[in-house]
Amino acid sequence: MTLKLYNTLTRKKETFKPIHKGKVGMYVCGPTIYNYIHIGNLRAYLIADILRRVLKFNKYNVKEIMNLTDVDDKTIRDSQKQNKSLKEFTAIYEKGFLEDIKLMNLEMPEKMPKATEHINEMVEIIKKLLDKKIAYKTEDGIYFSIRKFKDYGKLSKIKLKKLKTRARIMKDEYDKQNVNDFALWKFYTEEDGDVFWETELGKGRPGWHIECSAMSMKYLGKHFDIHTGGEDLIFPHHENEIAQSECATGKKYVNYWLHNGWVLVNNKKMSKSLGNFYNLRDIIEQGYSAFDLRYFYLTKNYRQRFNFTWQNLKSSKIALQRLKNIISEIKDDKNGRHRHIPKGHENLFEAPKNFRKKFLQGANEIYLKEFEKAINDDLNTPKALQVLWNFVRDEKAEGKLKTIKKMDEVFGLDLLKKEKIEIPKGVKKLVKEREDARKKKNWKKADELRNKIKKLGFSVEDVEEKSVVRIKKV
Ligand SMILES: [Zn+2]
Repeated sequence: MTLKLYNTLTRKKETFKPIHKGKVGMYVCGPTIYNYIHIGNLRAYLIADILRRVLKFNKYNVKEIMNLTDVDDKTIRDSQKQNKSLKEFTAIYEKGFLEDIKLMNLEMPEKMPKATEHINEMVEIIKKLLDKKIAYKTEDGIYFSIRKFKDYGKLSKIKLKKLKTRARIMKDEYDKQNVNDFALWKFYTEEDGDVFWETELGKGRPGWHIECSAMSMKYLGKHFDIHTGGEDLIFPHHENEIAQSECATGKKYVNYWLHNGWVLVNNKKMSKSLGNFYNLRDIIEQGYSAFDLRYFYLTKNYRQRFNFTWQNLKSSKIALQRLKNIISEIKDDKNGRHRHIPKGHENLFEAPKNFRKKFLQGANEIYLKEFEKAINDDLNTPKALQVLWNFVRDEKAEGKLKTIKKMDEVFGLDLLKKEKIEIPKGVKKLVKEREDARKKKNWKKADELRNKIKKLGFSVEDVEEKSVVRIKKV
């Protein structure tokens, strides 16, 4: 089945064709590690994770590179405020980001290179651009001349105005009102403190945009398949990445550009500058799990902007719990219709071919096809979730566990993982009382106790004729 992806470069849904058969190189613009990332930014990494999982579902061998920006205007500014060295300061938030990855159940990229460890690679690209007279030197830095690249604006569809004088922008981040030559290298000023490199270009530090060109091409080659990021990166960051890279190599840089929509709060972009943001720690403090947030984001198309509200997150939490309850009932099904997945074959596509074939027999091909159709249609996770819901509710459908396992390779919700449920003492006591009532065939009392238990947020069920009690959160 073909995989279709919406390409920002062409503003069209296109059939994905890899450069090298069976392999995909993808680059994800990683976080600037100067603070805990907010959940709006986290969405970009979740979407990259879903893309990665969908590619693997389609049997591609994926090489994913995600950079860490550990030097730029913001990291320098805030490390100085805290009187810490740049390294010491960024290490705190690098650790925080790795914790977020783990909590959100994101698969680790093949490599997470840091900007400060790739200064030489950046210098090499800038030297090439200087040689080609596309970059030029001024008193305060080395700039990229956007007029020298005729395709400038092809990603963001920005129109170049005829600039009478050459205007330049030194800042790493700027908006569309500032379509100017941008800094590749910033010469040292006292404001940079002890953050500088002595290079052939002179003493200084790199601009933000050049780092992604340097690291992506180092690990994925001059021309690679997919580049992702939040929609706010289209301009200027990705536009500038294309300009630098294509001018330096004379080749096309990236085939497919994928961008996710913003998370909004009251219809405004969630952002540090507006102060309307939450990070994962805030979410957990409010009694939600990272999986609740993961599920919530999966209910939206990745390109869609939507408002974050606690009410929406709560609805997702409830839906995910219901889904898990249904799945746990399927797992507990005693009549043997559903067999468990053998251990050691968690990743089907890494298992031997013969085994894979045998193993897949028994999965529900009809539902899997429908699921595949959804995810291969530009990562339509809301639709794919609907397929999963229809499937778990379809009493006649066979191959339940194998199919859920297969779908969850993409969702990453750990749907088959046994949940540890903490049952409060008071509930345990009521369950015991209810068992006694049942033994005495006092059905009225048993029902009353069941309702009491329900009010406390748990449900108790009787399986077959035995006094087996199942307790679950509802
Ligand atoms: Zn980047």
